[in-house]
Amino acid sequence: MYYAYKYRLEPSDAQREELDRHRDICRQLYNHTRYRLNEYRENHGELPSMTTLRSELPDLKQWWDGLSDVYSKVLQTVVERLFNNLRSLSALKQNGYGVGQLKWKPPREFRSFTYNQSGFKLDKKGGQTVLSLSKLADIPIRLHREIPDDAALKQVTLKKEPTGEWFATFGVEVDRESPQKPDRPKSAVGIDVGILKYAHDTDGHAIESPDLSAERDRLEREQRKLSRKEHGSNNYEKQRRRVAECHADLKNKRRDFLHKLSNHYAREYDLVAVEDLDAKGLMELPSNSRNRAGAAWGTFLRMLEYKCEREGTHFVAVDPAGTTKECAACGVSTDTPLWVREHSCPSCGFTADRDWNAAWNLLSRGIRQLGAGRSESTPVETALPTGTHSVPAKRVLEAGSPTLKCEPSGER
Ligand SMILES: [Zn+2]
Repeated sequence: MYYAYKYRLEPSDAQREELDRHRDICRQLYNHTRYRLNEYRENHGELPSMTTLRSELPDLKQWWDGLSDVYSKVLQTVVERLFNNLRSLSALKQNGYGVGQLKWKPPREFRSFTYNQSGFKLDKKGGQTVLSLSKLADIPIRLHREIPDDAALKQVTLKKEPTGEWFATFGVEVDRESPQKPDRPKSAVGIDVGILKYAHDTDGHAIESPDLSAERDRLEREQRKLSRKEHGSNNYEKQRRRVAECHADLKNKRRDFLHKLSNHYAREYDLVAVEDLDAKGLMELPSNSRNRAGAAWGTFLRMLEYKCEREGTHFVAVDPAGTTKECAACGVSTDTPLWVREHSCPSCGFTADRDWNAAWNLLSRGIRQLGAGRSESTPVETALPTGTHSVPAKRVLEAGSPTLKCEPSGER
């Protein structure tokens, strides 16, 4: 299995300069290779192979001052990167997108470079953990969580964020089979992403989105200040960084929340049923919140899926069509307007919060979907808890689910 681990680097000023210099050489090589690609196509009527362009690197070093300062495998990954971009471009074109040619990269759009297979290692220097990079430096790194002992470090990508901070992301391979998923899951949960709350699950938790209004206010304030600065001035540049920091802060807090939430579900259950993103009725939402909600839900699903894989938990994404209308107790569909927050079944009398009712439907669909094609049917019994009523979110939060307890302070 393959994982990514991201850490903050703490380079000295001199190291920061070196990182930037290497990044810029890589950027120039990228732009040069792009130019060579077009030149080759004009002369030969076809694109060169990646190997052809990589084999030109030693010749380039003859006349290109500074190119040899960068570790040779790093240069190779720059050529690879161009070809990867080309591949995704042509994939897009086949799908009918009118995308132009590969773009020339200005410094602002070329933020990272990669050591692949060799030329890097984690080391200790004077009690401090450093990332030792060939031909570059030993850069202090903040290892806020351990990389597993049996993990093989395959590559590391150094990236400068718009805030000016540097991060190292390790691609790590763990030679370990993912744990077996139980044939008969003992614990299962359905999760519905609602509109008013972040999520409802079938265990009766209503999980609220973190309150980031203070962070959003700050971002707006800093953006307003930026608009009053003279473009290109020193003050403008300083303010631009501040805005970038606000963006990064918001993004980190959102991701942190989604990580904790997905960890909780993947660890606590044998089966997790969610609604499929593509089928999700995001059209119900007003357009400004739609994109953000959609993006967050997509990120959450991806996290949940790989974490379930890691923990040996079944992950089932189901078609959510009609889950809010169907009665979880008897299956009869009733058309209720969206603003009616309570599901009340005219057929069997079952009442529950609309979103909880939906979560139950998701779970039973998930179980059916998983059971399909298996010799043994109904891997888990589902029974509606008696007397499920809407519990005020606050009460649930106080009672505490493991997820919410470990949320960073000041978020709510
Ligand atoms: Zn009913």
